[in-house]
Amino acid sequence: MTSSPAYRPDPKFMALGRDFSDPVDPADFPMTRLRFRNDRAAATVGLETLSDAAWIAAFGRFEPLPGNQPQPLAMRYHGHQFRSYNPDLGDGRGFLFAQLREQDSDRLLDLATKGSGQTPWSRQGDGRLTLKGGMREILAASLLEALGVPTSRAFSLVETGEDLQRGDEPSPTRSAVLTRLSHSHIRFGTFQRQAYFERPDLITVLVDHAVETYYPHLADAPDRPAVLMRAVVEASARLLAGWMAAGFVHGVLNTDNMVITGESFDYGPWRFLPRNDPNFTAAYFDHSGLYSFGRQPEAVFWNLQQLAACLTLVTDQAGLLDALNGFSDAYRDALRAAMLRRLALKPRDLATDMNLVSAAFKALAAGGDTLRWEPFFFDWFGGSASEGRAMAGPRAALYGEEAFADFRRRLAEFEPDRPERLDHPIFAQPDPEELLIEHVEALWAPIASQDDWSPLHAKLDRIEAARRAYGFGDDGAENNAV
Ligand code: AMP
Ligand code: MG
Repeated sequence: MTSSPAYRPDPKFMALGRDFSDPVDPADFPMTRLRFRNDRAAATVGLETLSDAAWIAAFGRFEPLPGNQPQPLAMRYHGHQFRSYNPDLGDGRGFLFAQLREQDSDRLLDLATKGSGQTPWSRQGDGRLTLKGGMREILAASLLEALGVPTSRAFSLVETGEDLQRGDEPSPTRSAVLTRLSHSHIRFGTFQRQAYFERPDLITVLVDHAVETYYPHLADAPDRPAVLMRAVVEASARLLAGWMAAGFVHGVLNTDNMVITGESFDYGPWRFLPRNDPNFTAAYFDHSGLYSFGRQPEAVFWNLQQLAACLTLVTDQAGLLDALNGFSDAYRDALRAAMLRRLALKPRDLATDMNLVSAAFKALAAGGDTLRWEPFFFDWFGGSASEGRAMAGPRAALYGEEAFADFRRRLAEFEPDRPERLDHPIFAQPDPEELLIEHVEALWAPIASQDDWSPLHAKLDRIEAARRAYGFGDDGAENNAV
């Protein structure tokens, strides 16, 4: 295997030992056909130089990477699923494969899988992932990244040649193993498991690991659990704001699907909003709408409370309460930043900015069924700098209506941020890249019927062009976690 000098293995998690994970073997798949490799992500960890054969050995066969974990580790965790505590969770179809440093940031990243075989935590499950599920995770992660939402990246998808039975796909359906590159897989549920077994000693071990690895600038704080809690509150508020500005519904905001770095991951029944609809629900099994678009703030806060409850076993309540009480301000600030970023505007004062945020949500609501979420932000990118584009584009008649007057008047008072971005050719097109359910299905159909992957790859190329055009990653937006 030929990695580049940028490859820096640092398998820290395994040092925590058997209280936190179990060594497992990957499934021996009948086939390993490479379907997607993310060379841009690979270049950030020095793995873009791998030949396809070496790539498949690593991300289809899971032969250890040099200097990395000798064996995959199924991570132990519990969690609340739809508010019910489940002590039988854990990596049931995935594992942590390797850990390595990101080139520029020095962040510790995980290479972890979905669909790599059974583990002690599989319960009745087959340990597998459907090919369509893998494709859906690639799509979600790509567009969220382009929209500036902190997210894991889809790193590799290898088709594995098995027939799977699933209730939510025409079956038998094809199998695959996905590898994601993510900023930690330490879930809220990782703490919950140790609290459940009444092991404050192990919660302390985990707090120390989390602070030293992901928030080292907080390592000298006298009350590590409280400062960790505060950092997780802030990171989670930023993630939440990112989803809300992106019109993204994660779908399954269980405590095992949130990590302490505030990175979005584990994309199952996700949806992007077709239009502004707070009741929009992504998962067909979410009958009560618990994780609907408009209830995501409540879901994130509820999950943060569960994490704080675990930390009460190792520190005083006061500091934890203080951290939780910071959530609404943190969310407001993050939403302000996320909406201004999406609209490519320079901030003004808090009240003016928040009035614009409300006006934007009202305008989106006023657009009803005819105004989709994504085109609204695309049309008004740069505010006044886009007035001409918006009022000559396909949605001009709508924007001329009285219901948009307040939004447009407020928008005009803001200065565009880096308006030269509008020179990118994508802004000369009538519509932005979107990933509504019909788009996802239309990308899957040719793969299912003719094994034609070209529409998917063309779509990913267009999302990548959008990412560059929007330039959301280049504005120095801070993230506390390293
Ligand atoms: P998720 O909803 O994907 O976050 O998964 C919730 C739990 O179910 C985790 O413990 C998963 O590992 C487990 N799980 C989901 N699907 C399967 C499967 N096909 N085989 C084994 N475990 C699974
Ligand atoms: Mg999960």
